[in-house]
Amino acid sequence: MRILVTGGAGFIGSHLCDRLLAEGHEVIAMDNLITGSTDNIAHLAGRRDFEFIFHDVTNYIYIAGPLDAILHFASPASPVDFTTMPIQILKVGALGTHKALGLARNKGARFLLASTSEVYGDPLVHPQPETYWGHVNPIGIRGVYDEAKRFAEAMTMAYHRAHKLDTRIVRIFNTFGERMRLNDGRVVPNLVGQALRGQPLTVYGKGLQTRSFCYVSDLVDGIYRLLMSQEVEPVNVGNPRETTILEFAELINRLTGNEAGILFKPLPADDPRQRRPDITRARTILGWEPKVALEDGLKRTIGWFKQKV
Ligand code: UDP
Repeated sequence: MRILVTGGAGFIGSHLCDRLLAEGHEVIAMDNLITGSTDNIAHLAGRRDFEFIFHDVTNYIYIAGPLDAILHFASPASPVDFTTMPIQILKVGALGTHKALGLARNKGARFLLASTSEVYGDPLVHPQPETYWGHVNPIGIRGVYDEAKRFAEAMTMAYHRAHKLDTRIVRIFNTFGERMRLNDGRVVPNLVGQALRGQPLTVYGKGLQTRSFCYVSDLVDGIYRLLMSQEVEPVNVGNPRETTILEFAELINRLTGNEAGILFKPLPADDPRQRRPDITRARTILGWEPKVALEDGLKRTIGWFKQKV
């Protein structure tokens, strides 16, 4: 297939490009590099089956020739970005999704939307199944991302229903691994960076909020299976192993041998108290299950960060 990946120079987008190329597809990565980096795709430069296009997908997208699939992964995604790039996030989720859907319709291409566990907001149902409609504050600081992705899902389903577009929606839970931005403000780069510098790890609030972390190769495998499936309804892809942020910080201190301890900081507004995917649908429909243990994924990630810090 000939596949366009928007956000293809980003953390998850670039790993997806690698996987698609390894499966024998031809890949076009598109990115405006506001959070992505050409460092993430530098190893692909010069390949005949790979092309990079510098473009902001909130503007009309032109691609010469046929396309079989579009994977729409462009969006800043760190809670720090929610404050520094709120308008860009709303625009890429709304206008960018519309442009990418229009391109998919024009090319007769399958369309896969990168959605998020943030559509569940600060969830009142735990763990979160796809049938849960969520608990989102539309005007809070996280609302720009949550509502953009909720709009993007609605727009994707509208194109499916009105234009018979062949669509997929993946709801991605917390993911980590090599190529995360060092300073993107999310918990993994923050804590691993601090640990490698011998600093105390910043834990927000009491650290009793929970997250469930999926290693990037597992995530990409789930996305690839979804792309190749016939499933139109949203599918959660994430690792159901849930930890408190405090336990997670202690694990990072242990794995890095950091003795500087923990520094408690104020909890940001609307920080979800708990998050864990119900992956029954991914298991039954895609035959997918995460394979990489948290400790193993963290060791690989720490090794990569060591070269960068
Ligand atoms: N967090 C933290 N210390 C940090 C960065 C984040 O304790 O230096 C917490 C944050 O408050 C949240 C969790 O870690 O409860 C995960 O945050 P992240 O920014 O990675 O993404 P989120 O899952 O909130 O979208």
